[in-house]
Amino acid sequence: MEVRYVLGTFHEIILKGHNRGFFERTLVANLRRALEGLPLASVTIPSRVVMAFHHEVPWPQIQARLATVFGLAGLIPAARAGESYEALEQFVSAHLDWVVGESFAVRCKRSNKRFPLTSEDIQRRLGAFIRHQTGKRVDLTNPATTVRVYVQTDGIYVSFNEYRGAGGLPVGTSGKALVLLSGGIDSPVAALLTLKRGAKVGLVHFHSAPFTSEASIRKVVELARILARYQGQLRLTLVPFGEFQQEVARLTPERLRVVLYRRMMLRVAERIARKSRFLALVTGESLNQVSSQTLENLAAIDRVAHMPVLRPLVGMDKQEIIDLAVRAGTFDLSILPHQDCCSFLQPLHPATRTTAKACEAAEQPLEVDRWARYLQRQATHQLIQPLPWEN
Ligand code: ATP
Ligand code: MG
Repeated sequence: MEVRYVLGTFHEIILKGHNRGFFERTLVANLRRALEGLPLASVTIPSRVVMAFHHEVPWPQIQARLATVFGLAGLIPAARAGESYEALEQFVSAHLDWVVGESFAVRCKRSNKRFPLTSEDIQRRLGAFIRHQTGKRVDLTNPATTVRVYVQTDGIYVSFNEYRGAGGLPVGTSGKALVLLSGGIDSPVAALLTLKRGAKVGLVHFHSAPFTSEASIRKVVELARILARYQGQLRLTLVPFGEFQQEVARLTPERLRVVLYRRMMLRVAERIARKSRFLALVTGESLNQVSSQTLENLAAIDRVAHMPVLRPLVGMDKQEIIDLAVRAGTFDLSILPHQDCCSFLQPLHPATRTTAKACEAAEQPLEVDRWARYLQRQATHQLIQPLPWEN
């Protein structure tokens, strides 16, 4: 299917918001960015969003790009059918082959309140016309084809299909959050869900190079390129963590290592976040998914943070997370083998139920504040551009 127009529908809750103008401008900018490279003519919002192209474009190309734009509930590839009822009927009679199956329904939405016919008039007249032309039967409850007619101030649009949009809120309408990104399956999905709620993200990755290979860094860069498709350019911060890990291994009880690593990651991430005005940290932790993620351990980890630590995956099981990762295209990268920094100097029997008190006691010989400052200074930043589209 090739299309020249795509209509985007809002989730109705959004239309009631006070800052609708800000929301719409952000969405339009995001749509333009995502559709770059296609022959886009204009993006306007007469009532729903109308994306117009200079000439017909294969629908899958548009659809793949729009899957990375949060803020639209429905996507409707459409054709323009003139400005009058007569023009609409003429258009439909030239496209009767699109009415597939044995039954059909006509549904009309009329945002141009000055149009001479009401929605019901149009449904009835066009329904009778199609029935007469095709001999197919009208079925309002379970039609094989639904012919959707949108009477807008900028003309009449017709569509025979509606797809789900990416949902959520436009990226850039909810502040900025810093995501702790490992090379695993979960944290890229956590980043995605944060983007979905309209926040811009930065990424921070802790690696153990040169004690391990640089594979985790390469992987995280590739993941970041995919995530950048959802917001445009983003910043990735790399923190060399191996030296600190060796110190932890030397000076603290083995079973607390993982929790102590995480506490230091949060301290350093928070410093980086504060400096760039990020308002929250985000991790890919769920609850009890692995033994380090007991509620006790999460509580002991969070004690060092002074800003909200969001965990968007908390209610999801592994399969739901994997499904999202597959859909976003991060899964295949995430399962490539790499040496995670947490497998470097990994304890044999990590503590499953620790307390902040036990962690603080274990951290006594470490000078954690000095380490946090030192690691922040060691951090390097790079700007990541979105992975280009193949066509
Ligand atoms: P993931 O699949 O995201 O690696 P996981 O299920 O393997 O998560 P953990 O390895 O316990 O769980 O990590 C929990 C969270 O801690 C990660 O989701 C991520 O947010 C953060 N994290 C872990 N390792 C790193 C790292 N090397 N750099 C940055 N963040 C990390
Ligand atoms: Mg992991």
